[in-house]
Amino acid sequence: MRYKLEKPVIGSIGTKKYLCQFEWRNGQFQSDEPVNLGGEDQAPDPHSLLLASLGACTLVTLRMYIDRKGWAVEHIVVKTNMFQTATGETINYVIDRDISFPGATLDTEQKNRLAEIAGNCPISKILAGNTSVRTYVLHEEEAGAQLSYKNDEITVLWKPELCKHSGRCVTQLPQVFDIKAKPWINVAGADAETIRTQVAKCPTGALSIGK
Ligand code: SF4
Repeated sequence: MRYKLEKPVIGSIGTKKYLCQFEWRNGQFQSDEPVNLGGEDQAPDPHSLLLASLGACTLVTLRMYIDRKGWAVEHIVVKTNMFQTATGETINYVIDRDISFPGATLDTEQKNRLAEIAGNCPISKILAGNTSVRTYVLHEEEAGAQLSYKNDEITVLWKPELCKHSGRCVTQLPQVFDIKAKPWINVAGADAETIRTQVAKCPTGALSIGK
């Protein structure tokens, strides 16, 4: 399993309400909250960023398809907005995406196809699909620590600070690596060679074999 981005998007906030700084692969951007929510509206709020992400992905996907087809479309516009409804305890979110092609002459079939293409853009799939958000809190007290899990045949060492929680070990050898279990590494769950092979696949060096 590989992360989509080589570098994670890193966000931080200080005490200024509610200006957040973000670092992405090639620069920085900010977010804020509107005045009615206590911010100063200096940058897009989180919902706007989410909608912009969908908008950008839609536009790029359509541009690629249109160019491949050689259709004469110079300009594509997408408007996105969202609302929520509640059914009992369940909150449902609906995102509306309106697309137009100012100045282009496209027939109904072409427009229907473009709507289909937009619906299949990668961010659409993430939003409409089965996405889970996993949250880990860094425990400073574990920084630099190296925990060991052993039996007579093998010793597995784990450095929490280096673990990027890519989940590779958890998904590939769940009988040994299970974040819901305590301890989370069970060296009795597989033979030593299998564990050794899995440890070698840890992308960050968090796992290693001890003596
Ligand atoms: S120990 Fe390595 S493979 Fe396992 S979750 Fe952490 S970084 Fe990923």
